[in-house]
Amino acid sequence: MTQQQTAGGDVRLTGISKTYGSFTAVHPLDLTVPQGSFFALLGASGCGKTTTLRMIAGLEEATTGTVTLGGRDITALPPYKRPVNTVFQSYALFPHLDVTENVAFGLRRRGVKAVRKQVGEMLDLVQLGDFAHRRPHQLSGGQQQRVAVARALINHPQVLLLDEPLGALDLKLRRQMQLELKRIQTEVGITFVHVTHDQEEAMTMADTVAVMNGGRVEQLGAPADLYENPRTTFVANFLGTSNLIEGEIVSTSTEIVVSAGGGKLRLPGSRCQAPATSGGRLLLGIRPEKISLARAEDAGAEAEGRNRVAGRITDSSFIGVSTQYVVESPAGEALHVYEQNVEHRAGLAPGAEVVLHWNPDHTFGLDAAQDIAAGVESVEDAA
Ligand code: ATP
Repeated sequence: MTQQQTAGGDVRLTGISKTYGSFTAVHPLDLTVPQGSFFALLGASGCGKTTTLRMIAGLEEATTGTVTLGGRDITALPPYKRPVNTVFQSYALFPHLDVTENVAFGLRRRGVKAVRKQVGEMLDLVQLGDFAHRRPHQLSGGQQQRVAVARALINHPQVLLLDEPLGALDLKLRRQMQLELKRIQTEVGITFVHVTHDQEEAMTMADTVAVMNGGRVEQLGAPADLYENPRTTFVANFLGTSNLIEGEIVSTSTEIVVSAGGGKLRLPGSRCQAPATSGGRLLLGIRPEKISLARAEDAGAEAEGRNRVAGRITDSSFIGVSTQYVVESPAGEALHVYEQNVEHRAGLAPGAEVVLHWNPDHTFGLDAAQDIAAGVESVEDAA
C-alpha cells in the first residue's frame, strides 16, 4: 500500500463476517483497500471472496462488523445508496438497447438528459467509439465486458467492484482484457476491487492481492512479495508452483542448515517463516525457475556454495519459452524445474541422472506442521 495515496477514500472492513446458519463463509476480517488502488481478492472456489465483495456492495448483509468508505460507515446502506458499482461476469447488458443507451442507462435513471458527451468520453475510455450503435449480440465477449465497465464507470463510483469479470472469456482475450482493465483503472484512478480465482490474473492486474482460503485472508501483499515470500504452504502452492522439501534443522544462525534427502541444504535465517531450532522440522521452498540443472557427469562444475540435490528426470515438457522438468529425488518425489530455452540442452531427457542446484538465498522456510500440499489441488481445479 503506497503512502502517497490519500487515506480519505479508503474502503475499510472491520471485523466483517458472514455466516449461513452454522456455516461460516467469511470469518471476521479486517481489511483496508487504499483509495485509488487496484486490489484483488484471490482464492479457490468457495473461499468467501464473492461474499466479501457482496458485503462491500451491500448485496449481502454482514453478520458482524462494519464497512466504511472514506471514514463513513455504509454498513446499513442499501446497495443503490452506496457510491459503489459492480461489474459481473455475466455483463447483464440490456439486449434491446444499443451500446450508447446501455452506457447512458445510469445517467438517464438519474434524469440526466444531455448524455452524449459523457457517453462519448466513456466509449473513448474503453475504446468502443466505433461501436456506439451496435446491440450487445453484435459484440464480442470482450467488447460486451468493456460496455459493462463503461456503464458502471459513468456513474462515477468511488469504488468499482469486479466479480470474476473476465471469467467467460477465452484465455487470449482474458489476457488482453486484463491489461485493458489495468489501463482503464490507471486512467480513471478509481479504486478497483477485483475478485478472481486466477492467480496469474490477480498478479498481472493488482497492486495488492489478498489471498483467501477457507473464509480467511491467508496473506496480503504486493504480487512479487507474495510470490517471493509466501508465509504458508497454501500461498506457496496456490501462487505459481513451489518445490517444498521437508528436512531436519541441523544448525541455526544467520544461515539455517537443514538435512534433507541425505544432503545438507541452506537458507538465510531472515527468509524462514517458522521458529527454527536444531532438531526441529522445516519445509524448504524453492521456485522452479530458480533451479538450474546439470547432468550428473558434469556435476561439480557449478559455483561453490549452491544448494545441491541429486535426482533423475522423470518428465520433460517443451513449452516454447521454457522447458519444464520433473525430477525424482530423495528430497522430493516430483521436484519441478523450469529452464528458459536459451540454448539446446543435450542429455536432459527422461531417465537422465541430474543434479539440481540453486542459490541458497532463493530458498524460503515454512512451518513443517502445515499440509505440504495445501493449495495444490485448488490450482488444478481452477485451470
Ligand atoms: P466462487 O468463486 O465459486 O464464487 P467464492 O470464493 O466467491 O467462490 P463465495 O461465493 O463467497 O465463494 O461462497 C463462500 C461459501 O459460502 C461457499 O462455501 C458457499 O457455498 C457458501 N454460500 C454462499 N452463499 C450462500 C448462501 N446463500 N447460503 C448458504 N451458503 C452460501
